[in-house]
Amino acid sequence: MNSQANALPLLIGTAQRAAVESLQAQLLSFGVPVLVFSRKSALLAALHEQPALAVLIDEAGLEDAATDDVLPLLTRLYKGTVFCITSDVPVIRQIALMRLGVTGFLSWPIDTQRLIDRLDQLADAGKGNPYRVLVVDDSETITRWVSHILQEAGMQVRTLHNPLDIFLALDRFRPEIVLMDVYMPECGGDEMARLIRQHPQFDSIPIVFLSTETSRGRQWQARSMGGDDFLIKNQESDELLASVSITAERYRRLRQWMTRDSLTGLLDHTHLIQQLEVQTVAARAQSYPLSYAMIDIDHFKQVNDLHGHAVGDRVIKSLARLLRQMAPLSDLIGRYGGEEFAIIMPGLSQIRAAQRMDEIRMAFFQLRHLVGEVTLQVSFSAGVAALEDGMSASQLVEAADRALYQAKRAGRNQIGMATMC
Ligand code: GH3
Ligand code: MG
Ligand code: MG
Repeated sequence: MNSQANALPLLIGTAQRAAVESLQAQLLSFGVPVLVFSRKSALLAALHEQPALAVLIDEAGLEDAATDDVLPLLTRLYKGTVFCITSDVPVIRQIALMRLGVTGFLSWPIDTQRLIDRLDQLADAGKGNPYRVLVVDDSETITRWVSHILQEAGMQVRTLHNPLDIFLALDRFRPEIVLMDVYMPECGGDEMARLIRQHPQFDSIPIVFLSTETSRGRQWQARSMGGDDFLIKNQESDELLASVSITAERYRRLRQWMTRDSLTGLLDHTHLIQQLEVQTVAARAQSYPLSYAMIDIDHFKQVNDLHGHAVGDRVIKSLARLLRQMAPLSDLIGRYGGEEFAIIMPGLSQIRAAQRMDEIRMAFFQLRHLVGEVTLQVSFSAGVAALEDGMSASQLVEAADRALYQAKRAGRNQIGMATMC
C-alpha cells in the first residue's frame, strides 16, 4: 500500500527558501513531503541517497551554483522528472534548459493545485500503472510469444485460449486492449469482436487482430467487424509493442474523458454504478468476496461556508488523491456526487475492507489543509458493506449507505459496518 508514510519527497533546489515555504506547507497537506536545498552539494547528495517524486530547480540558480552547472550532474544522478521554475524566460532559453535535461517548466508563483495535477499525471503515466493486455489465441506458442514481448516491456498480460470465456476476462481483468486471433476452433475473432461490441461497456475497447493473413481484403473485412488494427503474427516485436502501447494509451485517454469526474479524475457516478454491477456479477460467478464503501466528508457545508467553495474543492481533491494513493489498483474509486465518494473492493471481506477504510480515514484526518495563515482539519465518515447471497448491486449500495448513516449518527469521523441481513 502506498501510504503517506512512504510517500516519495519532492526536491526543490533554490536560493530563495522563503519563496517556497508556503508551497512546502501546501504540498504537505496533499501528502507530498518537500525537501528544499540551497546548495548544490546538498541537493545532489539527497538525490544520491533516496528516490524522489520529482525535482524542481530554480532557473535563477542555487546559492553556490548556476542552474546550468547543476543540471548536468543532477540529470546524471536522477532519471525522473525535472521541472525548472522560471519567470518568463524566452523560448530559446527554454530549449537550452531542455537540452540540459529539464522536462517541464513552472512559473513563479507556483500554483500548487496545478503542480499536484501534474505530479498525479506523472504517477498515473508511470510504471505504477502498466497497460493491461488480454491475448486471445488458441495457439499456446502465439500467446507465449506475445506475452513474453509485452511483459518484458512492463505490461500486464492475461492469456485466454478459449474465446468463449472472454466476457469473464473482460469483466475481471478490465483490459485496455484485446489482441485476438482471427481463426480459432470455437469461433472467428471477427465474430467475437462483433459480439463484444454488442455490450455498451465494451463498445470502445480496442481490439487488435492477430493473423498470419496478409491479404488486405481479409484485413478490411475484420476491421469492418469491429477491430481497430491488424497485426501479422511472428513479425518484428517492435511493431507489436508500438501498436499495443499506442492503441492502449489512446484508449486510456479516451476513457479518462468519457468516464471520469473532471474535478477529481475518479470514476463518475454513472460509471461507478456500472462497474459495481459488473463486479458483483463477476464476484458471484467466481465466488470471491466483494466489499463496497460509501464515504461522506463530515460537516462539509461548514468548510464551504467558512472558507469558500474553492477551499471546499481543494479538500475534495485532496481526499480523491489520498484514496488513489492508498487503495490498490484493483479497487475502483468513484466520486458518487458532491462530497461523497465510493470504493469497490473486489476480493475483500467486510472486515478487511473496514480496516482499509479506517487507515484511509486516519490518514485523511491527519492532513492539514492550508487556508491562508490557518490550517484546517477535516474528517470523513464511511459505511462498509459486503456482498451477500442474493443481494443486488443496488441493495449493496443501500446497505453501505445505511452503515454510513449510522457512522454519522454515532458522531462522525468513523467507519460504520453494515449488519448482516
Ligand atoms: P454531514 O457531516 O452530515 O455530511 O454534513 P455536511 O455538511 O457534509 O452535509 P451536507 O450534505 O448538508 O452538505 C454537503 C455540502 O457539500 C453541500 C454542498 O454545497 C457541498 N458541495 C457539494 N458538491 C460540492 C463541490 O463540488 N464543491 C464544493 N466546494 N462543495 C460541494
Ligand atoms: Mg453528503
Ligand atoms: Mg457530508
